[in-house]
Amino acid sequence: MRKPKSKKSARKVAARAEAPDITIRAWEDDPGSGVLGDRPVPDLAQRPLAYVFPRPAPRPAAYQPGTPEFRYWTTAEALRRGADFWANLVPLSKWEVGPALKVLLDEGEDLNAFYDRKALNFFHGPSPQGTVFSAESPDVACHEMGHAILDSFKPQLWDAASNEVAAFHESFGDMSAILSALQLPSLRTAILSDTGGHLFRNSRLSRLAEQLGDAIRAQNPDAVDPDCLRNAVNSFTYEDPIDLPPFAPARELSSEAHSFSRVFTGAFFESLGSMLTAEAATPSAPTSQELLAVATDLAKILVQAVQEAPVVPNWFAQVAAGMVQIAGSFDAKYPAILKGVFVKRSILSLDTATSVAALHRSMAATAAPKDAEPLAEIALASRHYGLERPLLVKAASHARPFAATAAAPDASPIDPASAATAAKGFVDDLFRSGHIDYNGTGTPETRIAHGRGLHTHRLVPRANGIRLERKLFNCGFCCGGP
Ligand SMILES: [Zn+2]
Repeated sequence: MRKPKSKKSARKVAARAEAPDITIRAWEDDPGSGVLGDRPVPDLAQRPLAYVFPRPAPRPAAYQPGTPEFRYWTTAEALRRGADFWANLVPLSKWEVGPALKVLLDEGEDLNAFYDRKALNFFHGPSPQGTVFSAESPDVACHEMGHAILDSFKPQLWDAASNEVAAFHESFGDMSAILSALQLPSLRTAILSDTGGHLFRNSRLSRLAEQLGDAIRAQNPDAVDPDCLRNAVNSFTYEDPIDLPPFAPARELSSEAHSFSRVFTGAFFESLGSMLTAEAATPSAPTSQELLAVATDLAKILVQAVQEAPVVPNWFAQVAAGMVQIAGSFDAKYPAILKGVFVKRSILSLDTATSVAALHRSMAATAAPKDAEPLAEIALASRHYGLERPLLVKAASHARPFAATAAAPDASPIDPASAATAAKGFVDDLFRSGHIDYNGTGTPETRIAHGRGLHTHRLVPRANGIRLERKLFNCGFCCGGP
């Protein structure tokens, strides 16, 4: 494996030296929005976050869309651009899986993509316009890469039995797609023009994965948004996922991870727009550089808040409260804006938002959670899952040095669920949605299956029970089916 890689790198370096003007052609954000650009040849072997792509690589050139060579290079360009952004910002020295992350460009027919701690996996499938390849969309590629990035700096989130944590992983994928797209100056200029400088407006930046959304909509009309897979311009407000159904049409909120992720993504994107207006020298006409600077600030605030937040069931509120507090060290205008957005969307209660600064100061005096502190494994009663031994799960069990709360519709603070209650709600949803690979456990007559679909979790027999382990973050993007 190593020898060809170094050969390839050497060949590429030599090719560049001979012909520095070589470019590849790539989509800016999604084949569905259809904007192409010519970009420098990406170096997939570049550290710290290297990739391993299928070999042999096509000769770098500006290929026509629709060809395998074009698809290879547009995926490569998007993934390189996104990883370079995160590697510098977090910062990261390697992936959770090691120095290089495998990318499997087409693993067969499915309208899907997933990250499984081994590789980024992509597929192809039918759409009214012909075959679509999920890897061809920079939105989809940078969403999957976002899972791998978050897993690389907050690995405890991988296995946490919490609907909010799983939904945040999906939101981080979408935020990664947006932030990766914003690294392109041409896209920033176009979006500012298209939205009249009001970023929190429907645009090809807010519309994630238009092409894959079209393909899924043709099969499941209510599984995705009307104009894309998920739109970051939305008006969803927080509800405790324990009280939500396990899936619902896209116009409604459910506890399903992709559906619930839209609450946080909407808040993030709205914050980005408001912060840009506040920072722009001419608020009605922000510049491309101002947009890049504000997006970079918000990404840093987000990452720092995630790094510091204890893994608890009301994870959204914990991250949001941390962002409000951290934002003050970036710009005095930011905390009020973030508080305003998070309170409007009920991610933070009024009580938390108005006391966040004081509470965080007191928290700083206590022991902050260790970044690498493992989650506790708890045993859930499992007879109603058809299992005869206790079900062992990783609970969102960190101590809460800072009591952030979300808000109910009447504005009262929501008492966070216990780690065990949140774990039971999460596991109930997994069983009801058919996402469990029984792996030979239980008895055939008690198993629940939906006939098809990717399993996100597996059951693994252990001496003291049956352990629930995550297999992958499935981005089949389907709220309505397996
Ligand atoms: Zn995902």
